[in-house]
Amino acid sequence: MLGAGVIGAATAHHLARSGARVTVIDATGPSAGASGASDGAVSVASKKPGTLARLATASLLYTRQLAAEGVLARAFVPRPAWYFATLDAEEHALDALVAKLRAIDGPVQACADGGAALLPGTGAGVRRLVKISGEGHMTGYAATAALLDHPGIMRRWPDQVRAINPDASGVTLTLASGRLRVRTVVVATGLGTLSLFPGLPMRPRAGQLFVTDRGQGGHLPGALTAASYLIAKTEDPARLPEPPVVIDPLTTGQYLIGSSREDHGDSSRVDFATMIALIRRAATVWPALGERRVIRAFAGVRAATADGLPIVGHMPDAPNVIMATGFEGDGICLSALIGREVAKMALGDAPDGALADDLSALSPARFAPETWRDAWAG
Ligand SMILES: Cc1cc2nc3c(=O)[nH]c(=O)nc-3n(C[C@H](O)[C@H](O)[C@H](O)COP(=O)(O)OP(=O)(O)OC[C@H]3O[C@@H](n4cnc5c(N)ncnc54)[C@H](O)[C@@H]3O)c2cc1C
Repeated sequence: MLGAGVIGAATAHHLARSGARVTVIDATGPSAGASGASDGAVSVASKKPGTLARLATASLLYTRQLAAEGVLARAFVPRPAWYFATLDAEEHALDALVAKLRAIDGPVQACADGGAALLPGTGAGVRRLVKISGEGHMTGYAATAALLDHPGIMRRWPDQVRAINPDASGVTLTLASGRLRVRTVVVATGLGTLSLFPGLPMRPRAGQLFVTDRGQGGHLPGALTAASYLIAKTEDPARLPEPPVVIDPLTTGQYLIGSSREDHGDSSRVDFATMIALIRRAATVWPALGERRVIRAFAGVRAATADGLPIVGHMPDAPNVIMATGFEGDGICLSALIGREVAKMALGDAPDGALADDLSALSPARFAPETWRDAWAG
């Protein structure tokens, strides 16, 4: 298992549950990548209709199951969400959201649609709110730690993977510490996959986040999300009408507030101009935030593929190599399901029948063979 982010952790967890021998290798340690610097919406509402929305629905249900079993009990928190509009473009996005959830007709529903009175405490500029039921929040690093905390998972970090060489009987990994021979390898290295496969159509997409102090009163009963966040999922983030702010109340009494989408390189440097725009909008729509102090600001970097879908499945010319990368802003949400299904791929078991077509849409085979060639060089 290469990568100790939430995807690698979920896959290792399911492999260990099946009794397989699994070693997780990470260049740094658990949650060193996007999983440690992200928001954690386990959300169907924010997904594009089709494959992503269906996989997110299945993952939400499975995440709830893992929480009920105790595995994710402390990581996953069910909560409602309100999407708000202050502008025409955002109202259109809310219309599309309501229509999408009606068409899916799953566990996530738009249960109320109206004015600011739906959520007392919102600011004067809020024209419309849509309340969503059935979703939840899961902090990436908490989920990663919980999933890795399973007997039988061997840990190897810090140790960087430099090359992957498959052959008919297994795979030779070139690591910073030397060579390692394994039967099957799962590549869950997030954005780091680009250093192994430089031809991959994937690019970094940064996002700014900040955390407030605990404060008193004015606490939101669920997430409050700008409808521009929905627009940012499918359109050029630079053309957004307003910052795509998401205000997420944490169980600690703090708020986690994010998160922009910036296509300006692999930088987890805090961008204060973007941060201030997010803070301003957050305080305008939820004025009680004016009583809070920002105690931490950070940025995470998503791994965004050219077609917006993650890359999951056996490599076409090397079936002992399984890819599980490119989750952009959806990896926390999809982690439970993808971990379970990638473990099945590694064990040679059949996928969940109802999801087979959606999972095969994520196959690495959708990219031209030259995309993958560089990795075998090392
Ligand atoms: C600002 C922001 C907000 C987000 N909000 C949400 C959200 O609300 N909901 C949601 O579902 N998702 C969200 N995401 C996306 C989510 O965080 C990611 O999709 C997810 O964490 C990806 O997990 P991963 O395991 O694929 O990758 P990562 O967490 O990046 O893990 C990859 C791991 O691989 C290791 N690695 C890399 N290269 C090598 C190598 N060569 N050798 C060994 N190890 C290596 C790294 O050290 C790292 O630990 C957000 C992301 C960001 C940045």
